[in-house]
Amino acid sequence: MAKKSPSFPPEADELPSPVVDNHTHFPLKGDDTVDLPDGVEALTLDEQVARAERAGVVGMIHSGCELPGLQLAVDLAREWRQIAAALAIHPNETQKHAGVTDVGPDGWQQELQPHHEVSLDDAIQLVAELSALPEVVAVGETGLDYFRAAERGREVQRRAFREHIAIAKELGKPLQIHDREAHADVVAILKADGAPERTVFHCFSGDRELAEVLSVNGWYASFAGPVSYKANEGLRAGLRAMDPSLVVVETDAPYLTPVPHRGRANAPYVITHTVHSMAATLGTELTQLCHQLMGNTIQIYGAFWVSS
Ligand SMILES: [Zn+2]
Repeated sequence: MAKKSPSFPPEADELPSPVVDNHTHFPLKGDDTVDLPDGVEALTLDEQVARAERAGVVGMIHSGCELPGLQLAVDLAREWRQIAAALAIHPNETQKHAGVTDVGPDGWQQELQPHHEVSLDDAIQLVAELSALPEVVAVGETGLDYFRAAERGREVQRRAFREHIAIAKELGKPLQIHDREAHADVVAILKADGAPERTVFHCFSGDRELAEVLSVNGWYASFAGPVSYKANEGLRAGLRAMDPSLVVVETDAPYLTPVPHRGRANAPYVITHTVHSMAATLGTELTQLCHQLMGNTIQIYGAFWVSS
């Protein structure tokens, strides 16, 4: 593939009806856990929010999922009416807090940073405390990442996932799940422990079969840029197989930029391309899809962007 310039894409037309970016990561000052592609300068938060507003994105959920970013996520949500927080220790982080750095199938050499000296129990305890705050609308992203973990790490991930499930249930908040190459175990753990009332598979990566499991159980699927990638026919079959009342949309920015800007940096305002792509896949009129996505989002998180 030709290398496109690693900048943010241009703004596109506003959606005909507002939507919410159900899961994103803003690069924040003092938080180096969200990496932009090399050479890309971060957009200021003012610019991010202004562009989102012009695109029809009225609300955004920022996931802080590494220890140094938890409090920053809460601060961000306090500062901006349009932004709420989701908190967790990401599955790839859980194993590092447990001192496990075994290389997984992706071959990536795990590196420990100073914050990994905090025990996994203490890190999850902070998630539990901060998640009780009103600015935090979900627990996530938590789950299993079998692409990045070998067996010892997977064991740690499973334990941490169950603890996050328990926190979400105790607080009565939705759960945002990261499921990478681990569909069967994610589903098995949710069934064994009992899923929170509102359970969302963030950046849904399944096919028709997993979509049917979600629909039967009343679990949500949040679709991101990959649903627009040419090769991902199975993912689009998953979208078509979902109960429409359980489908939401997200960017997972700054990663996973949708077509036609794949390879550039992602941000909430770029979600318009993903929504267009989903409408085309579903054969649904764009305005109608926006209404559906918005209604589903409010069912899960409430209308947090409406100031009280
Ligand atoms: Zn994410």
